[in-house]
Amino acid sequence: MSNMAPASVQTSVVTTQRNEDKILNLKSSNVFNAESPISKAVSSVYDWETFKFAPIRESTVSRAMTSRYFADLDKYAESDIVIVGAGSAGLSAAYTIAKARPDLKIAIIEANVAVGGGCFLGGQLFSAMVLRKPADSFLRDLEIEYEDEGDYVVVKHAALFITTLCSKVLALPNVKLFNATCVEDLITRTTEDGQTRIAGVVTNWTLVTMHHHDQSCMDPNTINAKVIISCTGHDGPMGAFCVKRLAGLGLIKRNQMGCLDMNRAEDGIVKNTREVFPGLVCAGMELSECDSHNRMGPTFGAMALSGVKAAEEALNVYELRKKQDEQSY
Ligand SMILES: Cc1cc2nc3c(=O)[nH]c(=O)nc-3n(C[C@H](O)[C@H](O)[C@H](O)COP(=O)(O)OP(=O)(O)OC[C@H]3O[C@@H](n4cnc5c(N)ncnc54)[C@H](O)[C@@H]3O)c2cc1C
Repeated sequence: MSNMAPASVQTSVVTTQRNEDKILNLKSSNVFNAESPISKAVSSVYDWETFKFAPIRESTVSRAMTSRYFADLDKYAESDIVIVGAGSAGLSAAYTIAKARPDLKIAIIEANVAVGGGCFLGGQLFSAMVLRKPADSFLRDLEIEYEDEGDYVVVKHAALFITTLCSKVLALPNVKLFNATCVEDLITRTTEDGQTRIAGVVTNWTLVTMHHHDQSCMDPNTINAKVIISCTGHDGPMGAFCVKRLAGLGLIKRNQMGCLDMNRAEDGIVKNTREVFPGLVCAGMELSECDSHNRMGPTFGAMALSGVKAAEEALNVYELRKKQDEQSY
């Protein structure tokens, strides 16, 4: 008979040994080691021996947040452009318009806590993101690295694209993101010739919007704007909001998103990104619910460039809509 323990027992001995190593390592991790590479690198910034945060009173933290938030609500109650949805199309539009026109106030309303929409992963929850050329020019503008594969490029993480884009948007001084906030209706005005125009958005905390069916009288807030860019994605629990709302009133026609065809879909979305109704530019996958464009699956160039085109279209009509706004109350 062999002296060796059965395989399962051997494994558990090794595991126990490893756990003990880990415990020892953990215990020793509180011992200051001036020779460790990290200690050497940060010793000029932090002295852990004397380390202490600056003192603060809790109400100071509260006022630091609320004073700024309420100042922003006040400032952006009259916005120049409101962008609904902070997915890839909405953030691309925000980046382009806010950079081109630092004089304009841009409010972004995002229903979710996190920005990015469906752009944190590529297809089927894979990490890499494919963009067909010429969308590579947008990546260069954002200084995002990619692999050039000829007709298309690949960013190693979709999350790298969307977080870089978001950080560049939020660093711009004329942009305010109101996240965890839902657009639950649109503001309309009637022009002198009897035409209806979109003149702003009706907002609420998303958690409130989600509870209108079981709580009563939770009235919303409003933001007036000259132009709205709607990028709420394709149909889903929250998606295609503005298209569905206007179609429900018979103000525009709604056509369901078509089946997948990458080649038709991307060109169709970008080329047709436009003001679909006076005061409302529609971009990204929401447009497919208006025009019946094909879905494109996991290729994202059209979302970025639809956002870029939406910025251009919004600026093309901005002066006209601003004039109409000044003529109404
Ligand atoms: C299950 C699934 C399948 C998909 N399949 C495909 C596909 O086959 N083809 C394809 O092209 N795309 C598909 N997509 C979407 C894909 O992620 C998109 O191509 C891309 O993300 C769309 O970008 P977007 O900016 O237009 O919209 P999204 O990335 O969807 O972003 C829209 C944003 O708007 C916000 N929003 C929605 N309603 C409101 C509101 N009322 N107020 C405020 N904010 C709001 C959302 O929270 C979201 O952050 C799929 C997504 C999912 C989740």
